[in-house]
Amino acid sequence: MYVTFLGAAGTVTGSRFLVEQGETQLLVDCGMFQGERELRRRNWDAFPIAPSGLAAVVVSHAHLDHIGWLPRLVAEGFTGSVLLTPDTGRLGSIVLRDAAHLQEEDAEYARRAGYSKHRPPLPLFDSAAAEKAIALFRPIDHGRRTQVAPGVDVMLRRAGHILGSATIEVRAGGRSVVFSGDLGNPDHPLLRPPEPPPAADAIVVESTYGDRDRPPRDLGDFAAALTKTLGRGGVVLIPAFAVDRTAVLLTELRSLMLSGRIPNAPIYVDSPMALAALDVYRRALTNGGPQMRPQPATGDPFETGTLHACRTVDESKALNETRMPCIIISASGMATGGRVVHHLAGLAPDPRNLIALVGFQVAGTRGRALLDGAHVIKAHGRYIPVRAQVEGFDEFSCHADADELLAWLAAAPRPPQTCFAVHGEVHAAQELASRVDQELGWCAVVPRPGERVRI
Ligand SMILES: [Zn+2]
Repeated sequence: MYVTFLGAAGTVTGSRFLVEQGETQLLVDCGMFQGERELRRRNWDAFPIAPSGLAAVVVSHAHLDHIGWLPRLVAEGFTGSVLLTPDTGRLGSIVLRDAAHLQEEDAEYARRAGYSKHRPPLPLFDSAAAEKAIALFRPIDHGRRTQVAPGVDVMLRRAGHILGSATIEVRAGGRSVVFSGDLGNPDHPLLRPPEPPPAADAIVVESTYGDRDRPPRDLGDFAAALTKTLGRGGVVLIPAFAVDRTAVLLTELRSLMLSGRIPNAPIYVDSPMALAALDVYRRALTNGGPQMRPQPATGDPFETGTLHACRTVDESKALNETRMPCIIISASGMATGGRVVHHLAGLAPDPRNLIALVGFQVAGTRGRALLDGAHVIKAHGRYIPVRAQVEGFDEFSCHADADELLAWLAAAPRPPQTCFAVHGEVHAAQELASRVDQELGWCAVVPRPGERVRI
């Protein structure tokens, strides 16, 4: 069996791994590259092999950097099945439709404004392409072994990262490789922690937080910063990934309000995608199941009593006029696009406001610039001064930290021949690989982009 690292090698985004056994080719994850312009440009490159030859694509979870390139793959000729869990299918449909819509809007905006490298400006994929990809979804449950070709099978196990997320085991020709996908934070308030990996000849592990450990989730600093901002009449703006992060934030905000640790301020969720994803979470919580933590029976876990849903553009725009202390949760999570950008433009210049960054901020994004202390950001073609307070809160991360990644690996029934650290900035991946080498005594490496290895 051979594995080729087509993406997420030495970088956090663009997860794509080609598995080959004899004539059979299987793609594990089909992610979009995000962040620096150089990386995003790679989304326009043709797929290195003919996609029509792929037996199937297996997707670990519904984040764009794992599923977002599927419509391009389909446009280039892929017609096989996309294997994913039922919840990844539900969330993935929302995510791909939203991504297509955003790109159509951006292309249209660029056309009108007259700036683009493409003439006329093109979306990476449009809504029709997203629908074609969604039509290929073939849901399989966690824990069910599924044959993808004669002698090649896959099994998905709980990853605890977002709803539906899975680790992927591929067995072929008497060998096996496990892909961690993204591994969850064991403190996730709604999801149960990742299942340990099975025995495997190779393990491909993510390393987003491979070089650091997260603070304990007591939310003391977060509660204090919110209380202070609301007390001085400010607005708290939280750019948040629509899928999962908004659900986690609302759960935590609700318990902080119920326990009196923050004031009962109005909360606006300004993202149709986040609202749609919340419905998928509500349904999963109601149905229970092995992915979910049992919840106390105290009604809707997201309802603070002060929650407002902004679905239309007019409702979103009306928020700009709000002078009341409130909390606005809006996508995208790294402030690269979406409604949060116009809130940033409106709120960043006022020192009373707080911009709370609650997710990993990829290099090259507006969110990362803010976190790194930028005094000025650019939004919709204009420069905006940043006078608001900016704080990062790693405790909301839905990724395992370095110690947790090592603990997950150490739970494998036997050492693999090789452990590959992917899905991290180079330093984080190298740091994790050297800890795996020193603390577990395993052969651990950081693969190069495009590298092909024999398992
Ligand atoms: Zn993810």
